[in-house]
Amino acid sequence: MHAIRGIAVSPGIAFGRALTLSSTVDHVEYQTVAADLVAAELVRLQHAIEGTRTDLESLIAVTRDRLGEEPAKIFQFHLGLLSDEALLRMMRDDIQREHVVAEYAASEALRKFAATLRAVEDEVFQMKAADVVDVERRLVGKLMGASDERLRRLDGPVVVIARELTPTQAAELHRLRVVGFATDGGGLTSHTSIFARALGIPAVSGCVNATELTEEGDEVIVDGDTGSVIVRPNDEARRHYAIEARRTAARRKILKESASLEAITRDGVRIELLGNIELPEEIPRIFDHGGDGVGLYRTEFLHLTSPRVPTEQDHFEAYASAIEHSKGKTLTIRTLDLGADKYTQEHLEDPERNPFLGLRSIRYCLDRPAMFKVQLRALMRASALGPIRVMFPLVSTVMELRQAKMLLRDVSEELEEGGIPFDATVPIGIMIEVPSAAIMARSFAGEADFFSIGTNDLIQYTLAVDRGNEKVASLYTPAHPAVIQLVKNVIRTARHAQIGVSLCGEMGGDPLFTMLLAGLGLRTLSMSPSQIPAIKKLVRSMDIGHCEWVARRVGSFESDRQVVTYLRDELRRIDPEALVGQLN
Ligand code: PEP
Ligand code: MG
Repeated sequence: MHAIRGIAVSPGIAFGRALTLSSTVDHVEYQTVAADLVAAELVRLQHAIEGTRTDLESLIAVTRDRLGEEPAKIFQFHLGLLSDEALLRMMRDDIQREHVVAEYAASEALRKFAATLRAVEDEVFQMKAADVVDVERRLVGKLMGASDERLRRLDGPVVVIARELTPTQAAELHRLRVVGFATDGGGLTSHTSIFARALGIPAVSGCVNATELTEEGDEVIVDGDTGSVIVRPNDEARRHYAIEARRTAARRKILKESASLEAITRDGVRIELLGNIELPEEIPRIFDHGGDGVGLYRTEFLHLTSPRVPTEQDHFEAYASAIEHSKGKTLTIRTLDLGADKYTQEHLEDPERNPFLGLRSIRYCLDRPAMFKVQLRALMRASALGPIRVMFPLVSTVMELRQAKMLLRDVSEELEEGGIPFDATVPIGIMIEVPSAAIMARSFAGEADFFSIGTNDLIQYTLAVDRGNEKVASLYTPAHPAVIQLVKNVIRTARHAQIGVSLCGEMGGDPLFTMLLAGLGLRTLSMSPSQIPAIKKLVRSMDIGHCEWVARRVGSFESDRQVVTYLRDELRRIDPEALVGQLN
Protein backbone atom coordinates (compact mmCIF):
# COMPACT_ATOMS: atom_id res chain seq x y z
CA MET A 1 0.00 0.00 0.00
CA HIS A 2 1.12 3.56 -0.73
CA ALA A 3 -0.45 6.61 0.93
CA ILE A 4 0.34 9.67 -1.18
CA ARG A 5 -0.25 13.18 0.14
CA GLY A 6 -1.34 15.88 -2.27
CA ILE A 7 -3.58 18.92 -2.39
CA ALA A 8 -7.32 18.39 -1.85
CA VAL A 9 -8.84 20.14 -4.85
CA SER A 10 -12.33 18.65 -5.11
CA PRO A 11 -14.12 17.10 -2.10
CA GLY A 12 -15.47 13.58 -1.62
CA ILE A 13 -14.11 10.05 -1.43
CA ALA A 14 -13.85 7.83 -4.51
CA PHE A 15 -12.99 4.15 -4.94
CA GLY A 16 -11.93 2.70 -8.29
CA ARG A 17 -9.32 1.06 -10.47
CA ALA A 18 -6.43 3.12 -11.79
CA LEU A 19 -6.29 4.26 -15.37
CA THR A 20 -3.00 5.98 -16.17
CA LEU A 21 -3.21 8.69 -18.80
CA SER A 22 -0.56 10.64 -20.61
CA SER A 23 -1.22 14.26 -21.62
CA THR A 24 1.28 14.19 -24.49
CA VAL A 25 2.27 11.66 -27.11
CA ASP A 26 5.76 10.35 -26.73
CA HIS A 27 8.18 10.91 -29.56
CA VAL A 28 6.65 9.73 -32.84
CA GLU A 29 9.17 7.64 -34.79
CA TYR A 30 10.30 8.83 -38.22
CA GLN A 31 8.86 6.18 -40.50
CA THR A 32 8.23 6.10 -44.22
CA VAL A 33 5.98 4.06 -46.47
CA ALA A 34 6.50 2.73 -49.99
CA ALA A 35 5.53 5.13 -52.80
CA ASP A 36 2.43 3.13 -53.71
CA LEU A 37 1.08 3.53 -50.13
CA VAL A 38 1.28 7.34 -50.04
CA ALA A 39 -2.32 7.73 -51.22
CA ALA A 40 -3.48 5.37 -48.45
CA GLU A 41 -1.60 7.46 -45.85
CA LEU A 42 -3.38 10.58 -47.07
CA VAL A 43 -6.74 8.84 -46.68
CA ARG A 44 -5.76 7.62 -43.20
CA LEU A 45 -4.86 11.18 -42.21
CA GLN A 46 -8.16 12.50 -43.55
CA HIS A 47 -10.16 9.88 -41.63
CA ALA A 48 -8.28 10.59 -38.40
CA ILE A 49 -8.88 14.34 -38.80
CA GLU A 50 -12.59 13.77 -39.36
CA GLY A 51 -12.78 11.34 -36.44
CA THR A 52 -11.01 13.77 -34.11
CA ARG A 53 -13.27 16.58 -35.28
CA THR A 54 -16.37 14.49 -34.50
CA ASP A 55 -14.98 13.64 -31.04
CA LEU A 56 -14.35 17.32 -30.34
CA GLU A 57 -17.80 18.37 -31.56
CA SER A 58 -19.48 15.92 -29.24
CA LEU A 59 -17.18 17.03 -26.43
CA ILE A 60 -18.24 20.65 -27.05
CA ALA A 61 -21.93 19.68 -27.00
CA VAL A 62 -21.62 17.68 -23.78
CA THR A 63 -19.53 20.35 -22.07
CA ARG A 64 -22.03 23.03 -23.08
CA ASP A 65 -24.88 20.96 -21.59
CA ARG A 66 -23.08 20.14 -18.37
CA LEU A 67 -21.02 23.26 -17.70
CA GLY A 68 -22.35 26.00 -19.97
CA GLU A 69 -21.15 28.03 -22.90
CA GLU A 70 -17.91 29.40 -21.46
CA PRO A 71 -16.03 26.13 -20.71
CA ALA A 72 -17.27 24.68 -24.02
CA LYS A 73 -15.44 27.48 -25.84
CA ILE A 74 -12.12 25.98 -24.74
CA PHE A 75 -12.43 23.37 -27.44
CA GLN A 76 -13.33 25.70 -30.31
CA PHE A 77 -9.64 26.48 -30.61
CA HIS A 78 -8.87 22.75 -30.86
CA LEU A 79 -11.53 22.36 -33.54
CA GLY A 80 -10.20 25.38 -35.43
CA LEU A 81 -6.76 23.78 -35.65
CA LEU A 82 -8.21 20.78 -37.45
CA SER A 83 -9.73 23.05 -40.11
CA ASP A 84 -6.63 25.19 -40.52
CA GLU A 85 -5.76 24.78 -44.21
CA ALA A 86 -2.11 25.80 -43.78
CA LEU A 87 -1.54 23.18 -41.09
CA LEU A 88 -3.35 20.45 -42.99
CA ARG A 89 -1.44 21.29 -46.15
CA MET A 90 1.84 20.99 -44.24
CA MET A 91 0.85 17.48 -43.10
CA ARG A 92 -0.24 16.37 -46.57
CA ASP A 93 2.86 17.85 -48.25
CA ASP A 94 5.08 15.99 -45.82
CA ILE A 95 3.41 12.69 -46.65
CA GLN A 96 3.52 13.35 -50.41
CA ARG A 97 7.11 14.64 -50.55
CA GLU A 98 8.83 12.56 -47.87
CA HIS A 99 6.52 9.53 -47.87
CA VAL A 100 6.36 9.73 -44.07
CA VAL A 101 3.59 7.98 -42.11
CA ALA A 102 0.55 10.08 -41.24
CA GLU A 103 1.39 9.99 -37.49
CA TYR A 104 4.77 11.57 -38.14
CA ALA A 105 3.40 14.22 -40.52
CA ALA A 106 0.64 15.21 -38.06
CA SER A 107 2.97 15.30 -35.09
CA GLU A 108 5.63 17.35 -36.92
CA ALA A 109 3.19 19.97 -38.23
CA LEU A 110 1.53 20.46 -34.84
CA ARG A 111 4.81 20.51 -32.94
CA LYS A 112 6.18 23.17 -35.29
CA PHE A 113 3.05 25.22 -34.79
CA ALA A 114 3.31 24.84 -31.00
CA ALA A 115 6.91 26.05 -31.19
CA THR A 116 5.84 29.10 -33.22
CA LEU A 117 3.23 29.95 -30.60
CA ARG A 118 5.76 29.57 -27.81
CA ALA A 119 8.00 32.07 -29.55
CA VAL A 120 5.34 34.81 -29.56
CA GLU A 121 6.02 37.46 -26.92
CA ASP A 122 2.55 37.43 -25.36
CA GLU A 123 2.34 34.74 -22.67
CA VAL A 124 -1.31 34.03 -23.33
CA PHE A 125 -0.42 32.97 -26.87
CA GLN A 126 2.42 30.89 -25.61
CA MET A 127 0.02 29.10 -23.35
CA LYS A 128 -2.02 28.06 -26.39
CA ALA A 129 0.90 25.83 -27.30
CA ALA A 130 -0.39 23.39 -24.66
CA ASP A 131 -3.70 23.17 -26.52
CA VAL A 132 -1.87 22.42 -29.76
CA VAL A 133 -0.03 19.61 -27.98
CA ASP A 134 -3.41 18.35 -26.78
CA VAL A 135 -4.69 18.22 -30.38
CA GLU A 136 -1.49 16.41 -31.38
CA ARG A 137 -2.20 13.81 -28.69
CA ARG A 138 -5.75 13.29 -29.93
CA LEU A 139 -4.93 13.17 -33.62
CA VAL A 140 -1.87 10.95 -33.30
CA GLY A 141 -3.77 8.84 -30.76
CA LYS A 142 -6.59 8.43 -33.28
CA LEU A 143 -4.08 7.34 -35.92
CA MET A 144 -2.44 4.89 -33.54
CA GLY A 145 -5.66 3.29 -32.36
CA ALA A 146 -6.27 5.74 -29.52
CA SER A 147 -6.34 5.55 -25.76
CA ASP A 148 -9.97 6.71 -25.87
CA GLU A 149 -10.83 3.15 -26.89
CA ARG A 150 -9.08 1.89 -23.78
CA LEU A 151 -11.22 4.19 -21.71
CA ARG A 152 -14.46 3.11 -23.32
CA ARG A 153 -13.70 -0.54 -22.81
CA LEU A 154 -13.21 -0.13 -19.06
CA ASP A 155 -15.85 -1.50 -16.78
CA GLY A 156 -16.34 -0.53 -13.16
CA PRO A 157 -15.49 2.80 -11.57
CA VAL A 158 -12.21 4.36 -12.72
CA VAL A 159 -9.76 6.68 -10.99
CA VAL A 160 -7.65 8.58 -13.48
CA ILE A 161 -3.98 8.97 -12.58
CA ALA A 162 -1.99 11.40 -14.71
CA ARG A 163 0.91 13.80 -14.55
CA GLU A 164 -1.46 16.54 -15.53
CA LEU A 165 -4.69 16.31 -17.50
CA THR A 166 -5.39 18.49 -20.48
CA PRO A 167 -8.70 20.39 -20.49
CA THR A 168 -10.18 18.08 -23.13
CA GLN A 169 -9.25 14.98 -21.14
CA ALA A 170 -10.73 16.36 -17.93
CA ALA A 171 -13.96 17.39 -19.60
CA GLU A 172 -14.57 14.16 -21.49
CA LEU A 173 -13.83 11.85 -18.59
CA HIS A 174 -17.13 12.43 -16.85
CA ARG A 175 -18.91 10.70 -19.70
CA LEU A 176 -17.07 7.55 -18.77
CA ARG A 177 -17.09 5.82 -15.43
CA VAL A 178 -14.52 8.13 -13.89
CA VAL A 179 -15.13 8.68 -10.19
CA GLY A 180 -11.86 10.38 -9.16
CA PHE A 181 -8.72 12.16 -10.35
CA ALA A 182 -5.19 12.20 -8.97
CA THR A 183 -2.48 14.21 -10.70
CA ASP A 184 1.24 14.58 -10.03
CA GLY A 185 1.21 18.28 -10.85
CA GLY A 186 -1.35 21.04 -10.65
CA GLY A 187 -2.92 22.88 -7.77
CA LEU A 188 -6.25 24.32 -6.76
CA THR A 189 -6.35 26.55 -9.79
CA SER A 190 -5.33 24.05 -12.48
CA HIS A 191 -7.80 23.17 -15.23
CA THR A 192 -8.26 19.69 -13.83
CA SER A 193 -9.17 20.99 -10.40
CA ILE A 194 -11.64 23.49 -11.80
CA PHE A 195 -13.35 20.86 -13.93
CA ALA A 196 -13.31 18.31 -11.12
CA ARG A 197 -15.06 20.76 -8.79
CA ALA A 198 -17.56 21.78 -11.46
CA LEU A 199 -18.35 18.11 -12.15
CA GLY A 200 -18.41 17.15 -8.47
CA ILE A 201 -15.69 14.48 -8.88
CA PRO A 202 -13.29 14.01 -5.93
CA ALA A 203 -9.75 15.02 -6.91
CA VAL A 204 -6.28 15.40 -5.44
CA SER A 205 -3.48 17.19 -7.28
CA GLY A 206 0.16 17.92 -6.52
CA CYS A 207 0.74 14.21 -5.68
CA VAL A 208 4.28 14.38 -7.16
CA ASN A 209 4.80 10.67 -7.87
CA ALA A 210 1.32 9.15 -8.14
CA THR A 211 2.01 8.06 -11.72
CA GLU A 212 5.21 6.28 -10.64
CA LEU A 213 3.62 4.46 -7.71
CA THR A 214 0.53 3.31 -9.57
CA GLU A 215 0.12 0.57 -12.12
CA GLU A 216 -2.84 0.45 -14.43
CA GLY A 217 -5.65 -1.56 -12.83
CA ASP A 218 -4.46 -0.96 -9.25
CA GLU A 219 -7.12 -0.42 -6.63
CA VAL A 220 -7.08 3.28 -5.65
CA ILE A 221 -8.90 5.47 -3.12
CA VAL A 222 -9.00 9.24 -3.70
CA ASP A 223 -9.79 11.30 -0.63
CA GLY A 224 -10.60 14.77 -1.96
CA ASP A 225 -11.40 16.01 1.58
CA THR A 226 -7.96 15.57 3.08
CA GLY A 227 -5.86 15.40 -0.09
CA SER A 228 -4.76 11.74 0.13
CA VAL A 229 -4.48 9.04 -2.50
CA ILE A 230 -4.21 5.43 -1.33
CA VAL A 231 -2.80 2.99 -3.86
CA ARG A 232 -3.37 -0.74 -3.30
CA PRO A 233 -5.07 -0.15 0.10
CA ASN A 234 -4.86 -2.80 2.80
CA ASP A 235 -7.99 -4.07 4.54
CA GLU A 236 -7.72 -1.54 7.32
CA ALA A 237 -7.50 1.42 4.91
CA ARG A 238 -10.39 0.02 2.88
CA ARG A 239 -12.55 -0.24 6.00
CA HIS A 240 -11.51 3.21 7.23
CA TYR A 241 -12.40 4.91 3.96
CA ALA A 242 -15.66 3.02 3.54
CA ILE A 243 -16.75 4.36 6.96
CA GLU A 244 -15.44 7.85 6.09
CA ALA A 245 -17.32 7.88 2.78
CA ARG A 246 -20.59 6.94 4.48
CA ARG A 247 -20.04 9.49 7.22
CA THR A 248 -19.18 12.26 4.76
CA ALA A 249 -22.21 11.51 2.59
CA ALA A 250 -24.54 11.56 5.62
CA ARG A 251 -22.96 14.76 6.94
CA ARG A 252 -23.24 16.51 3.58
CA LYS A 253 -26.91 15.62 3.40
CA ILE A 254 -27.63 17.09 6.84
CA LEU A 255 -25.54 20.17 6.11
CA LYS A 256 -27.30 20.85 2.84
CA GLU A 257 -30.65 20.54 4.53
CA SER A 258 -29.69 23.29 6.96
CA ALA A 259 -28.26 25.50 4.18
CA SER A 260 -31.39 27.66 4.09
CA LEU A 261 -30.96 28.73 7.73
CA GLU A 262 -29.33 32.07 8.57
CA ALA A 263 -25.59 32.29 9.33
CA ILE A 264 -26.14 33.93 12.67
CA THR A 265 -24.27 33.32 15.92
CA ARG A 266 -26.04 32.30 19.13
CA ASP A 267 -25.70 35.86 20.39
CA GLY A 268 -27.28 37.27 17.23
CA VAL A 269 -24.34 38.42 15.07
CA ARG A 270 -24.78 37.85 11.35
CA ILE A 271 -21.79 36.48 9.41
CA GLU A 272 -21.94 36.92 5.65
CA LEU A 273 -20.86 33.74 3.81
CA LEU A 274 -19.84 34.21 0.18
CA GLY A 275 -18.49 31.85 -2.49
CA ASN A 276 -15.32 31.83 -4.60
CA ILE A 277 -15.85 30.96 -8.28
CA GLU A 278 -13.95 30.65 -11.54
CA LEU A 279 -16.96 30.52 -13.87
CA PRO A 280 -20.33 32.35 -13.79
CA GLU A 281 -22.06 28.96 -14.09
CA GLU A 282 -20.82 28.09 -10.60
CA ILE A 283 -22.88 30.88 -8.98
CA PRO A 284 -26.10 28.84 -8.50
CA ARG A 285 -24.04 26.36 -6.43
CA ILE A 286 -23.29 29.16 -3.95
CA PHE A 287 -27.00 29.81 -3.41
CA ASP A 288 -27.79 26.06 -3.34
CA HIS A 289 -25.28 25.71 -0.52
CA GLY A 290 -26.84 28.60 1.40
CA GLY A 291 -24.33 31.33 0.48
CA ASP A 292 -25.10 35.03 0.19
CA GLY A 293 -23.31 35.88 -3.06
CA VAL A 294 -19.91 35.95 -4.75
CA GLY A 295 -16.92 37.10 -2.71
CA LEU A 296 -14.32 36.30 -5.36
CA TYR A 297 -14.79 35.77 -9.09
CA ARG A 298 -11.39 34.78 -10.53
CA THR A 299 -11.75 36.22 -14.04
CA GLU A 300 -8.38 34.98 -15.31
CA PHE A 301 -10.09 31.70 -16.12
CA LEU A 302 -11.53 33.47 -19.18
CA HIS A 303 -7.99 34.05 -20.45
CA LEU A 304 -6.80 30.59 -19.54
CA THR A 305 -9.53 28.79 -21.44
CA SER A 306 -10.18 31.08 -24.37
CA PRO A 307 -8.94 30.00 -27.81
CA ARG A 308 -7.68 33.58 -28.32
CA VAL A 309 -7.07 36.64 -26.19
CA PRO A 310 -10.61 37.42 -24.96
CA THR A 311 -12.24 40.44 -26.56
CA GLU A 312 -14.15 43.13 -24.70
CA GLN A 313 -17.34 41.36 -25.77
CA ASP A 314 -16.10 38.00 -24.37
CA HIS A 315 -15.43 39.70 -21.04
CA PHE A 316 -18.73 41.57 -21.13
CA GLU A 317 -20.74 38.42 -21.80
CA ALA A 318 -19.08 36.58 -18.92
CA TYR A 319 -19.79 39.44 -16.50
CA ALA A 320 -23.35 39.89 -17.79
CA SER A 321 -23.92 36.18 -17.15
CA ALA A 322 -22.44 36.46 -13.63
CA ILE A 323 -24.72 39.44 -12.91
CA GLU A 324 -27.76 37.52 -14.13
CA HIS A 325 -26.88 34.48 -11.98
CA SER A 326 -26.23 36.71 -8.93
CA LYS A 327 -29.77 38.16 -8.91
CA GLY A 328 -28.74 41.43 -7.30
CA LYS A 329 -26.68 39.83 -4.53
CA THR A 330 -23.01 40.64 -3.82
CA LEU A 331 -20.80 40.03 -6.84
CA THR A 332 -17.11 40.82 -6.35
CA ILE A 333 -15.21 40.56 -9.60
CA ARG A 334 -11.44 40.39 -9.37
CA THR A 335 -9.46 41.72 -12.32
CA LEU A 336 -7.04 39.40 -14.12
CA ASP A 337 -4.61 37.59 -11.83
CA LEU A 338 -2.38 36.18 -14.58
CA GLY A 339 1.23 35.20 -14.09
CA ALA A 340 3.08 32.88 -11.70
CA ASP A 341 0.93 29.73 -11.37
CA LYS A 342 -1.77 31.15 -13.66
CA TYR A 343 0.10 30.46 -16.85
CA THR A 344 2.63 27.75 -17.22
CA GLN A 345 6.19 28.98 -17.11
CA GLU A 346 7.50 26.07 -19.12
CA HIS A 347 5.50 27.36 -22.07
CA LEU A 348 7.37 30.64 -22.03
CA GLU A 349 10.28 31.30 -24.32
CA ASP A 350 12.04 33.14 -21.52
CA PRO A 351 10.64 31.86 -18.20
CA GLU A 352 10.91 34.15 -15.20
CA ARG A 353 13.40 32.92 -12.64
CA ASN A 354 11.14 33.81 -9.74
CA PRO A 355 7.64 34.00 -11.20
CA PHE A 356 5.84 34.41 -7.87
CA LEU A 357 7.96 37.50 -7.25
CA GLY A 358 7.77 38.56 -10.87
CA LEU A 359 5.44 40.18 -13.34
CA ARG A 360 2.21 38.73 -12.05
CA SER A 361 -1.29 39.90 -11.30
CA ILE A 362 -1.84 43.69 -11.10
CA ARG A 363 1.80 44.23 -12.17
CA TYR A 364 1.19 42.21 -15.31
CA CYS A 365 -1.98 44.22 -16.06
CA LEU A 366 -0.37 47.60 -15.42
CA ASP A 367 2.47 46.55 -17.71
CA ARG A 368 -0.13 45.95 -20.47
CA PRO A 369 -2.57 48.86 -20.10
CA ALA A 370 -4.21 48.24 -23.48
CA MET A 371 -5.05 44.63 -22.52
CA PHE A 372 -6.13 45.70 -19.02
CA LYS A 373 -8.43 48.42 -20.37
CA VAL A 374 -10.28 45.83 -22.46
CA GLN A 375 -11.30 44.09 -19.23
CA LEU A 376 -12.01 47.33 -17.36
CA ARG A 377 -14.27 48.64 -20.16
CA ALA A 378 -16.21 45.39 -20.15
CA LEU A 379 -16.54 45.53 -16.36
CA MET A 380 -17.83 49.09 -16.40
CA ARG A 381 -20.26 48.35 -19.25
CA ALA A 382 -21.54 45.35 -17.28
CA SER A 383 -21.99 47.54 -14.19
CA ALA A 384 -25.06 49.05 -15.89
CA LEU A 385 -26.76 45.64 -15.74
CA GLY A 386 -26.61 45.05 -11.98
CA PRO A 387 -24.54 45.64 -8.86
CA ILE A 388 -20.88 44.60 -8.99
CA ARG A 389 -17.75 45.33 -6.98
CA VAL A 390 -14.35 45.49 -8.67
CA MET A 391 -11.26 44.21 -6.90
CA PHE A 392 -7.57 44.49 -7.84
CA PRO A 393 -5.27 41.56 -6.86
CA LEU A 394 -1.76 41.53 -5.38
CA VAL A 395 -1.53 45.26 -4.79
CA SER A 396 1.73 45.98 -2.96
CA THR A 397 2.02 49.77 -3.21
CA VAL A 398 -0.49 52.61 -3.10
CA MET A 399 0.86 53.79 -6.47
CA GLU A 400 -0.38 50.57 -8.10
CA LEU A 401 -3.86 51.15 -6.74
CA ARG A 402 -3.80 54.73 -8.01
CA GLN A 403 -2.64 53.65 -11.47
CA ALA A 404 -5.32 50.96 -11.68
CA LYS A 405 -8.01 53.43 -10.58
CA MET A 406 -6.75 55.92 -13.14
CA LEU A 407 -7.18 53.37 -15.93
CA LEU A 408 -10.67 52.66 -14.61
CA ARG A 409 -11.42 56.40 -14.71
CA ASP A 410 -10.09 56.60 -18.27
CA VAL A 411 -12.43 53.87 -19.50
CA SER A 412 -15.34 55.40 -17.59
CA GLU A 413 -14.72 58.73 -19.34
CA GLU A 414 -14.56 57.00 -22.70
CA LEU A 415 -17.87 55.29 -21.99
CA GLU A 416 -19.41 58.57 -20.91
CA GLU A 417 -18.25 60.28 -24.08
CA GLY A 418 -19.67 57.44 -26.14
CA GLY A 419 -23.01 57.67 -24.31
CA ILE A 420 -22.61 54.09 -23.04
CA PRO A 421 -24.29 53.53 -19.65
CA PHE A 422 -22.31 52.43 -16.59
CA ASP A 423 -22.53 52.73 -12.83
CA ALA A 424 -20.18 55.47 -11.62
CA THR A 425 -20.54 54.30 -8.00
CA VAL A 426 -19.05 50.79 -8.40
CA PRO A 427 -17.10 50.04 -5.18
CA ILE A 428 -13.39 49.55 -5.87
CA GLY A 429 -11.47 47.28 -3.52
CA ILE A 430 -8.13 45.55 -3.26
CA MET A 431 -6.95 42.15 -2.22
CA ILE A 432 -4.56 42.24 0.69
CA GLU A 433 -2.21 39.38 -0.10
CA VAL A 434 1.24 40.92 0.22
CA PRO A 435 2.74 41.75 3.65
CA SER A 436 3.53 45.34 2.56
CA ALA A 437 -0.18 45.95 1.94
CA ALA A 438 -1.19 44.25 5.20
CA ILE A 439 1.27 46.31 7.24
CA MET A 440 0.39 49.56 5.48
CA ALA A 441 -3.36 48.82 5.38
CA ARG A 442 -4.03 52.30 6.78
CA SER A 443 -2.57 54.00 3.68
CA PHE A 444 -4.76 51.88 1.42
CA ALA A 445 -7.92 52.32 3.50
CA GLY A 446 -8.20 55.95 2.43
CA GLU A 447 -8.23 55.00 -1.24
CA ALA A 448 -10.10 51.68 -1.39
CA ASP A 449 -13.77 50.99 -0.70
CA PHE A 450 -13.09 47.53 0.68
CA PHE A 451 -10.39 44.97 1.45
CA SER A 452 -10.44 41.25 0.81
CA ILE A 453 -7.68 39.31 2.54
CA GLY A 454 -6.10 36.76 0.20
CA THR A 455 -4.46 34.46 2.70
CA ASN A 456 -3.31 31.93 0.08
CA ASP A 457 -0.72 34.41 -1.14
CA LEU A 458 -0.36 36.35 2.10
CA ILE A 459 0.87 33.19 3.86
CA GLN A 460 3.42 32.35 1.19
CA TYR A 461 4.84 35.87 1.09
CA THR A 462 4.88 36.27 4.88
CA LEU A 463 6.49 32.91 5.62
CA ALA A 464 8.63 32.68 2.45
CA VAL A 465 6.97 29.34 1.64
CA ASP A 466 5.89 28.54 -1.92
CA ARG A 467 2.20 27.62 -1.69
CA GLY A 468 2.58 24.96 -4.41
CA ASN A 469 5.81 23.32 -3.26
CA GLU A 470 5.06 20.06 -1.48
CA LYS A 471 8.61 19.96 -0.01
CA VAL A 472 7.85 22.91 2.27
CA ALA A 473 4.13 22.24 2.67
CA SER A 474 4.50 21.60 6.41
CA LEU A 475 5.72 25.20 6.86
CA TYR A 476 2.73 26.65 5.02
CA THR A 477 0.10 27.44 7.64
CA PRO A 478 -2.46 30.16 8.39
CA ALA A 479 -1.80 29.44 12.08
CA HIS A 480 1.60 31.13 12.13
CA PRO A 481 1.37 34.04 14.61
CA ALA A 482 2.90 36.38 11.99
CA VAL A 483 0.06 35.65 9.58
CA ILE A 484 -2.55 36.09 12.31
CA GLN A 485 -0.98 39.43 13.31
CA LEU A 486 -1.24 40.70 9.75
CA VAL A 487 -4.83 39.50 9.34
CA LYS A 488 -5.71 41.17 12.63
CA ASN A 489 -4.13 44.45 11.55
CA VAL A 490 -6.05 44.51 8.27
CA ILE A 491 -9.41 43.75 9.94
CA ARG A 492 -8.85 46.33 12.64
CA THR A 493 -7.73 49.01 10.16
CA ALA A 494 -10.69 48.41 7.87
CA ARG A 495 -13.16 48.55 10.72
CA HIS A 496 -11.56 51.72 12.04
CA ALA A 497 -11.74 53.31 8.57
CA GLN A 498 -15.31 51.99 8.21
CA ILE A 499 -14.68 50.17 4.97
CA GLY A 500 -15.75 46.60 4.19
CA VAL A 501 -13.38 43.75 4.90
CA SER A 502 -13.62 40.07 4.02
CA LEU A 503 -11.29 37.10 3.69
CA CYS A 504 -11.29 34.96 0.55
CA GLY A 505 -8.25 32.65 0.91
CA GLU A 506 -8.71 28.97 1.76
CA MET A 507 -8.43 29.92 5.44
CA GLY A 508 -11.94 31.43 5.13
CA GLY A 509 -13.46 28.00 4.47
CA ASP A 510 -11.45 26.16 7.12
CA PRO A 511 -13.58 25.61 10.27
CA LEU A 512 -10.46 25.60 12.42
CA PHE A 513 -10.13 29.36 11.97
CA THR A 514 -13.76 30.53 11.92
CA MET A 515 -13.96 31.37 15.63
CA LEU A 516 -10.62 33.15 15.54
CA LEU A 517 -11.56 35.25 12.50
CA ALA A 518 -14.95 36.19 13.94
CA GLY A 519 -13.22 37.04 17.22
CA LEU A 520 -10.84 39.33 15.36
CA GLY A 521 -13.89 41.20 14.05
CA LEU A 522 -14.40 39.66 10.62
CA ARG A 523 -18.04 39.50 9.53
CA THR A 524 -17.63 38.33 5.92
CA LEU A 525 -15.95 35.14 4.70
CA SER A 526 -15.64 33.89 1.14
CA MET A 527 -14.89 30.25 0.35
CA SER A 528 -15.35 27.34 -1.99
CA PRO A 529 -19.17 26.89 -2.26
CA SER A 530 -18.99 23.32 -0.94
CA GLN A 531 -17.59 24.63 2.39
CA ILE A 532 -20.46 27.03 3.07
CA PRO A 533 -22.84 24.57 4.82
CA ALA A 534 -20.18 23.38 7.30
CA ILE A 535 -19.09 26.93 8.14
CA LYS A 536 -22.71 28.00 8.51
CA LYS A 537 -23.40 25.19 10.95
CA LEU A 538 -20.36 26.21 12.98
CA VAL A 539 -21.34 29.91 12.97
CA ARG A 540 -24.72 28.94 14.36
CA SER A 541 -23.02 27.21 17.31
CA MET A 542 -20.64 30.10 18.09
CA ASP A 543 -20.90 32.96 20.50
CA ILE A 544 -19.09 36.18 19.49
CA GLY A 545 -18.15 37.02 23.07
CA HIS A 546 -16.44 33.64 23.31
CA CYS A 547 -14.79 34.09 19.87
CA GLU A 548 -13.27 37.38 21.05
CA TRP A 549 -11.86 35.58 24.05
CA VAL A 550 -10.44 32.87 21.75
CA ALA A 551 -8.81 35.56 19.58
CA ARG A 552 -7.19 37.19 22.62
CA ARG A 553 -5.82 33.83 23.77
CA VAL A 554 -4.45 33.06 20.29
CA GLY A 555 -2.75 36.47 20.33
CA SER A 556 -0.64 35.32 23.27
CA PHE A 557 0.83 32.27 21.49
CA GLU A 558 4.21 32.22 19.84
CA SER A 559 4.06 29.14 17.64
CA ASP A 560 1.67 27.77 15.05
CA ARG A 561 1.59 24.44 16.93
CA GLN A 562 0.18 26.14 20.04
CA VAL A 563 -2.39 27.96 17.91
CA VAL A 564 -3.53 24.79 16.14
CA THR A 565 -3.73 22.69 19.31
CA TYR A 566 -5.73 25.37 21.08
CA LEU A 567 -8.11 26.00 18.15
CA ARG A 568 -8.70 22.26 17.73
CA ASP A 569 -9.66 21.97 21.39
CA GLU A 570 -12.04 24.90 21.14
CA LEU A 571 -13.58 23.58 17.95
CA ARG A 572 -14.02 20.13 19.49
CA ARG A 573 -16.03 21.71 22.28
CA ILE A 574 -18.26 23.83 20.02
CA ASP A 575 -18.76 21.66 16.92
CA PRO A 576 -16.86 18.33 17.07
CA GLU A 577 -18.18 17.30 13.64
CA ALA A 578 -16.34 20.22 12.06
CA LEU A 579 -13.08 18.49 12.93
CA VAL A 580 -13.83 15.66 10.50
CA GLY A 581 -11.43 15.88 7.58
CA GLN A 582 -9.18 18.42 9.33
CA LEU A 583 -5.57 18.20 8.16
CA ASN A 584 -3.95 20.06 11.01
C1 PEP B 1 -5.44 34.32 -2.26
O1 PEP B 1 -4.28 34.54 -2.62
O2 PEP B 1 -5.77 34.09 -1.09
C2 PEP B 1 -6.53 34.30 -3.25
C3 PEP B 1 -7.78 34.14 -2.88
O3 PEP B 1 -6.19 34.41 -4.56
P1 PEP B 1 -5.67 33.18 -5.46
O4 PEP B 1 -5.83 31.94 -4.66
O5 PEP B 1 -6.50 33.21 -6.70
O6 PEP B 1 -4.24 33.57 -5.69
MG1 MG C 1 -3.88 35.36 -4.57
